[in-house]
Amino acid sequence: MTIPTVPLNDGHSIPQLGYGVFKVPAEDAERAVSEALEVGYRHIDTAAIYGNEEGVGAAIAASGIARDDLYVTTKLWNDRHDGDEPDRAIEESLGKLGLDHVDLYLVHWPTPARDNYVHAWEKLVGIRDRGLTRSAGVSNFLVPHLDRIVAETGVTPAVNQIELHPAHQRRDITTWAAEHDVRIESWGPLGQGKYDLFGLPAVADAAEAHGKTPAQAVLRWHLQKGFVVFPKSVRRERLEENIQVFDFALTDAEMAAIDALDPLDGSGRVGSHPDDVN
Ligand code: NAD
Repeated sequence: MTIPTVPLNDGHSIPQLGYGVFKVPAEDAERAVSEALEVGYRHIDTAAIYGNEEGVGAAIAASGIARDDLYVTTKLWNDRHDGDEPDRAIEESLGKLGLDHVDLYLVHWPTPARDNYVHAWEKLVGIRDRGLTRSAGVSNFLVPHLDRIVAETGVTPAVNQIELHPAHQRRDITTWAAEHDVRIESWGPLGQGKYDLFGLPAVADAAEAHGKTPAQAVLRWHLQKGFVVFPKSVRRERLEENIQVFDFALTDAEMAAIDALDPLDGSGRVGSHPDDVN
């Protein structure tokens, strides 16, 4: 199984599908990531706050897979934006992961009430320039936050990782991203199992038409939109199911029907509002 890559605005590329490890307990992370690597995943999305970077690193070390064949993302947590804290935070993450660089490092949340995300972003650019991450990006940034970091630093992030799924399509941010050549990564691509995407006729009908599951139809919608996804599961059969999404394509009509599921553009949020995380 070869997973296609898509380009980023800094000349690097990223596997369009990966494995996310939010809420994978530390003691389970090595097994889960090892299984994902066995199944064929080569892109792992973790974060310092997930508390499982050591397990991710152990699985990578045990896999014997060449470093250049792996893509690893981690994220700077909210209480480490100030001063030189980001420099210490990346060193700690690299130590836990057992790596000398990650492929993508993200400011996890803008924490707007603290008003320090421009500084955090500047520090990430420095971390990138020192080679500790190949690419630098942001997560959960709204359009005003994106406009501000670009205006004040002159550097556009490679990605913005945001909650995005058919019930919460974030068109203001995806439009901004398209205009600025920023790659969107969809977190909660399946609605975290909290929103019943799979029962919606547009999803169920598309799945049935292609002999696929509703989860596969939703993931295919993200891929055809150009988004990067890393669905999470700790069950091997779902790891296998979620990667089998490159052997069919939704029609334009099926894409349009899923596009129409969020007419109010924002009704189906399952996670926190970025202005409320500080
Ligand atoms: P998700 O939409 O991937 O949902 C995961 C849940 O969906 C699983 O726990 C399981 O219950 C269910 N599921 C998975 N595969 C399924 C299948 N084939 N059929 C039926 N149900 C299935 O949500 P997520 O884990 O929150 O998001 C994916 C990744 O995004 C995370 O693991 C993490 O890496 C990242 N993330 C980032 C942020 C952020 O703030 N940047 C926030 C949340 C998640």
